[in-house]
Amino acid sequence: MSNQNLFAELIAICGKENVSNQELDRIVYSSDLASLPPLIRQMYKIQQPQYIVRPSTTGQISKIIKLAVQHKIPFTTRAGASTGNGAVIPIDGGIILDLTQMQKIIKIDPDFYQITVQPGIPWEKLNHFLKKNKLMIGIHPSSSPSATVGGFISTGGYAGIGAPKYGPIAQQIQKLKVILPDGSISDIYPPLSSLFVGAEGTLGIIVEITLQVFPLSQKISPFAFGFADIESASYFLQTILAQGVKPYHVMLFDRHFLDLSKSLGLEVPKNEFLLILALEGTEETIQAESEKIWETISDKNKLNEKFAYDEWNKRFKAELFIKRAGPSLILLEVGISLSKINHLYKNFKEISETQQIDLGFCGILGHNATMLCMPFMLTDERNGMDYLKILTFSRRLLSNAIKHGGTLYGVGLWGSSYLPYLHSQEKLRIFREIKTLRDPENLCNPGKIIDDRTPERMKPPKP
Ligand SMILES: Cc1cc2nc3c(=O)[nH]c(=O)nc-3n(C[C@H](O)[C@H](O)[C@H](O)COP(=O)(O)OP(=O)(O)OC[C@H]3O[C@@H](n4cnc5c(N)ncnc54)[C@H](O)[C@@H]3O)c2cc1C
Repeated sequence: MSNQNLFAELIAICGKENVSNQELDRIVYSSDLASLPPLIRQMYKIQQPQYIVRPSTTGQISKIIKLAVQHKIPFTTRAGASTGNGAVIPIDGGIILDLTQMQKIIKIDPDFYQITVQPGIPWEKLNHFLKKNKLMIGIHPSSSPSATVGGFISTGGYAGIGAPKYGPIAQQIQKLKVILPDGSISDIYPPLSSLFVGAEGTLGIIVEITLQVFPLSQKISPFAFGFADIESASYFLQTILAQGVKPYHVMLFDRHFLDLSKSLGLEVPKNEFLLILALEGTEETIQAESEKIWETISDKNKLNEKFAYDEWNKRFKAELFIKRAGPSLILLEVGISLSKINHLYKNFKEISETQQIDLGFCGILGHNATMLCMPFMLTDERNGMDYLKILTFSRRLLSNAIKHGGTLYGVGLWGSSYLPYLHSQEKLRIFREIKTLRDPENLCNPGKIIDDRTPERMKPPKP
């Protein structure tokens, strides 16, 4: 089939206004949130997509996939594109399925505390809807204004607002409807649904999601604390968790992060570390948990209440704001047990000082006393060599983090070389089997998870 025919077929499926092969769209859809210098594009041989389609129904997606398979054209799912690890980059070109039109709330069942939605609904929109129904979601990412429900599940949904109290998204999935890479449609229930959690769109496309929801919290109380070092901050957190406090959300920032925020005009405390903690529940549960906190912390660590509320209100903006100082930001996302965080942080700092690279840090608390650590480095994508240097350095950091017991969160285009250290052999075997069986031509989001495209000279050091 000629390109012209394929274009016409896509239009017949989705309508003229929902299909594009325009140069500008093809450029925009060849990146994610992070801009990439041409040097990296060349090294990874990243192509532009040929077509961008914006389906709005399950039937349309199934037809698009069948068409792609028939003509051996790669297809990549893209939702909010709020990831920065290349997971939505269509490395082999082909078709981009932009799911941002799939925002319908299909069904709400308040008696059973369940909601069924299309995958492209942003978390912020879902939260507003639930609030009107006196319900709430257990966990959502701090990128909620743009990140979608399907995107969060597909990237792992392990850390976010609500995670320490309600657990990761995998625990809240009741059912997924997925279109497998051969175009067939399946309903998948737990525990099998966990295969699609973190699959980054390589096992098919999630087209409907049923989630558990919770009664709306009566109250959320944020607190802010300052610490002189990482040891006291992590000791405080470990102690209150051991006492049974279940924070709703915890963010930790180091001095470098705070200095950057200050240079961008924000008010920041003088402490080396800032910890923002929010409790959620009823008046009584919050009172009981805050008493345990006051028993653990001294007054000198407590920062003023208004500052705590301001920081809480900025929770959706903190990480991206500092990117302005870059203008590019290379960020690693590493999950690690709280008990190992001091070691890891110091190790990061030591190697960055030896290499004379400025390294900042922010972290958010996940479930089971783990922390999602986000060491970040500023760079400028207009300077390809500097970008490459920082990207290579970030891989060194990651190898070190894995040595210290950390795991990479979000594989994308850059992390596949670390797979043997991230997933069990058994899980990788299942992944490969599904791909061989359902996607023998590797058309469904190629270059991600088990398909490592890292150029030889960029292969990371073994952890
Ligand atoms: C400021 C900021 C804060 C963030 N905070 C958090 C946080 O708290 N917790 C966290 O985990 N992450 C966070 N992230 C990372 C990112 O925003 C999340 O992982 C987000 O959930 C991704 O959703 P998305 O809709 O943007 O997905 P995309 O970036 O569009 O896609 C991500 C991956 O999922 C696949 N995909 C998307 N939709 C589907 C689908 N329906 N079916 C199959 N595959 C699909 C894509 O192919 C891709 O591989 C943050 C990012 C930023 C910029």
